[in-house]
Amino acid sequence: MDISNKNLISIEGANITVIGLGRSGESAARLGKTLGANILISDGSSDSDVIERAKKLSSKGINVETGGHSKKIYDADLCVISPGVKQDATIVNETKANGIPIVSEIEFASWFTYGAIIAITGSNGKTTSVSLLEEMCKTKGFSPALAGNVGTAFSDIVLKDLEAKPSHRVYILEISSFQMEHIVHFKPFISVFLNITPDHLDRYSGMDAYIQAKMNMIQNQDQRDHIVYNYDDPVLNTKFEGVLPQTHGFSILGERETIFTMNATKIYDEKHATLIHLDQLALPGRHNLANSLAAATAAKILGVPNSRIAQTMSTFVGVEHRLERVLDVNGVTYYNDSKATNVDAVKVALDSFNSAIHLILGGKDKGGKFSQLLPHAQNKVKEIVAYGQASEKISAALRDAVKLEQVSSLQEAVEVCHLRAEPGDIVLLSPGCASFDQFTNFEERGEVFKSLVKEMVPQ
Ligand code: ADP
Repeated sequence: MDISNKNLISIEGANITVIGLGRSGESAARLGKTLGANILISDGSSDSDVIERAKKLSSKGINVETGGHSKKIYDADLCVISPGVKQDATIVNETKANGIPIVSEIEFASWFTYGAIIAITGSNGKTTSVSLLEEMCKTKGFSPALAGNVGTAFSDIVLKDLEAKPSHRVYILEISSFQMEHIVHFKPFISVFLNITPDHLDRYSGMDAYIQAKMNMIQNQDQRDHIVYNYDDPVLNTKFEGVLPQTHGFSILGERETIFTMNATKIYDEKHATLIHLDQLALPGRHNLANSLAAATAAKILGVPNSRIAQTMSTFVGVEHRLERVLDVNGVTYYNDSKATNVDAVKVALDSFNSAIHLILGGKDKGGKFSQLLPHAQNKVKEIVAYGQASEKISAALRDAVKLEQVSSLQEAVEVCHLRAEPGDIVLLSPGCASFDQFTNFEERGEVFKSLVKEMVPQ
């Protein structure tokens, strides 16, 4: 199938193989089917959720195979591949050898819509920033839709929009590096780069390959498009010199002129008028200042009024499980930061507070170096309570420097903190580990923490 000209692509009657029966694969299959293609969706796994999805799709007349890939997958005009499949996988090589074009789900969905795309990527802060931008765009003249790595697949929204045809649609996409592999025509109106730190080095040959995957986001942008990036990030800082799209920086150091510029007490706008005082911001933490400035810059380019941007900054309290304020009782504040599954995220959480902290760490070890927390914990962390599989490792790394208690469960950890916390203190679950030793995922861990706190603490 010739996909070289986006405007001439028609998938009606085409044979399309979708590899991977996850959320995005399922949505791509349904979008393709609706547009008249013959779909075969194939997944190597036979897990219960894959089987469940398979049944649903079969009932809609989509061909499905699970538990392995048959040769039928190569009888295709086009292959839509899930972000989970590595670029050097046998299946990718064989598809290419058969002359079948391969595209990602994001690329595929983008063929069937003309709405403006705002694509946000980065190693950290993506979900927070896309959610902030969505909130800023909930105003007259904009119809925002959040998709991508967060919540709904892009194909799902594009499919709904084929019927609903909403006006002023703005797609706000959370993009991971995996989703930017196999890009051909994908062309955001605004690309936002939050930060780049080493990540997924199990998948890429090194930092360069990881960065290159993210840079695919701008490959089709032209003079009418925009790039928003973090001036404070040493990698991003020099990455966009001489590019075609219009570039806009943001910075929490306030050293360079930006659309919204910061000083020690406030953020001011392009006309040097006060946008908002820092003490009016609803989100805690300096990292969230960066996320807020990134979202605000993109919103401004879209034409959202400054008043709406400021209003969102003063009311948006964040996304669940990310420094989420749970309760404030007798002067003690409880925070759920269950999404902090690595040591870097815990550092950022500790840097967000000035009060004394009772820190709950633990879960399934991901190989992080807990001793790196020490400079961030000094004069701040009153006590660490370590629980779960990683508790011994955490204890060995930190007990000589910080008061530390080892317990077995999250429940015990909350009990210990509840007993010891004094007015003015913070109890922070920022575990620095995966959840899988005692929970299904970080969301469940956060929910359990919140209900334990609410049960234990009389309000
Ligand atoms: P992502 O979607 O990229 O995983 P989230 O918004 O879900 O990002 O935030 C996940 C965690 O990453 C947060 O709990 C916080 O610890 C950390 N984080 C968020 N924003 C930033 C940032 N701008 N810089 C560094 N760390 C951040």
